[in-house]
Amino acid sequence: MTEHTYRKMEFRDLKRQYQRLKPQIDRSLSEVISSTHFIAGEKVQELEKLLAAYVGVKHCITCANGTDAISIALLAYGIGEGDAVFVPDFTFFSSGECPASIGAVPVFVDVCENTYNLNPAALEDAINTVADEGRLRPKAVIAVDLFGRPFDYETIQTICNKYHLILLEDAAQGFGGYYTTAIGEKRMACSLGDIATTSFFPAKPLGCYGDGGAIFTDDDHIASLCRSIAVHGKDMENANNPYAKYNNIRIGMNSRLDTIQAAVLLAKFSVFCDEELTTVNRVATFYSDNLMDVPNLTVPIIEENRYSSWAQYTVILPFDCDRGKIQKSLSEYGIPTNIYYVKPLHRQRAFIGSRSEYAECKITEMLCKRVLCLPMHPYLSDGEMEFVVTMLKKALGREMFV
Ligand SMILES: *Cc1c(COP(=O)(O)O)cnc(C)c1O
Repeated sequence: MTEHTYRKMEFRDLKRQYQRLKPQIDRSLSEVISSTHFIAGEKVQELEKLLAAYVGVKHCITCANGTDAISIALLAYGIGEGDAVFVPDFTFFSSGECPASIGAVPVFVDVCENTYNLNPAALEDAINTVADEGRLRPKAVIAVDLFGRPFDYETIQTICNKYHLILLEDAAQGFGGYYTTAIGEKRMACSLGDIATTSFFPAKPLGCYGDGGAIFTDDDHIASLCRSIAVHGKDMENANNPYAKYNNIRIGMNSRLDTIQAAVLLAKFSVFCDEELTTVNRVATFYSDNLMDVPNLTVPIIEENRYSSWAQYTVILPFDCDRGKIQKSLSEYGIPTNIYYVKPLHRQRAFIGSRSEYAECKITEMLCKRVLCLPMHPYLSDGEMEFVVTMLKKALGREMFV
């Protein structure tokens, strides 16, 4: 095997997936085009039923993207001005953007070094600080299934119960994973907390061919509110009224999942559940088994009671190593890498003025300097996985010991 064998390796290979699924994707797409039901076509309802059953909740409401999904869910609970929403400092921008965009204040909370997910002790500290200060009402927690690992559901839910906070699971990266409770109950990602959201952005675990998102909840009233907000504040409670379509009872937005995107997701779904989740877990196990013993390198931890959908495979590089150089040498071998995330949310300029100054987020600061995400998708070959491991070790060896 030469060092040039894998010039075409992709960080997340959507082309190979399309080659594998081409017949069913093409068929599903052409059905939509022939039907011309581009908006709210049958496939949208079919997808919502399928996803709700898979996740194990009563309602799935699809929408235009994972960001809208979070905003719609927060709006349905009446969250807005004067409310504090607790958000991990180490996540994608949307998790903090959504509460801020509807007038609430995101309060950034540090994460755990070994899981990259919200730190329960830091969360409780932040809630108490906000409550003591009295300027904002602690209202909700957004817990993120970062990189595909379901967040610490039972611990965080207990804290939310104690302080009467709404728990929103941002499962944009978590779809397909699960969490097993202390009493052995298996709970799918997107079924944790009061309400959950996901994204079908192409590079997410289950991706469509453009933007897409969904909201999941067991609450009939909240579900109906979400549906209404997503379609111009339509009167959903009286949907049988022939004029309901033009009966707008609140200010909402226009956030629908295109029928074409539903068609792509339906065509991908069974292979996603039956094969792709297993394959990404095999890739992760291979990476971890082979990288575990590299000195000062930290591999991600997924506990026994969890299953990750591996949106990303993220390692923490040794503290004194030059991440830029590692990325550059890997890229010279044709191995693409990414850094999620370069900046703590509390340092984003957009939040100056809206963010809260409460807690220090030292772990997030460290992670932003040291994390590195390796190629991760269900179509990596055995040879490619080996090549990534070998070349990462080689680059680290050169960087650390020469
Ligand atoms: C991708 C992502 C979102 C936003 O999803 P979009 O569909 O891109 O709007 C929200 N939260 C997290 C954690 C994400 O990774």
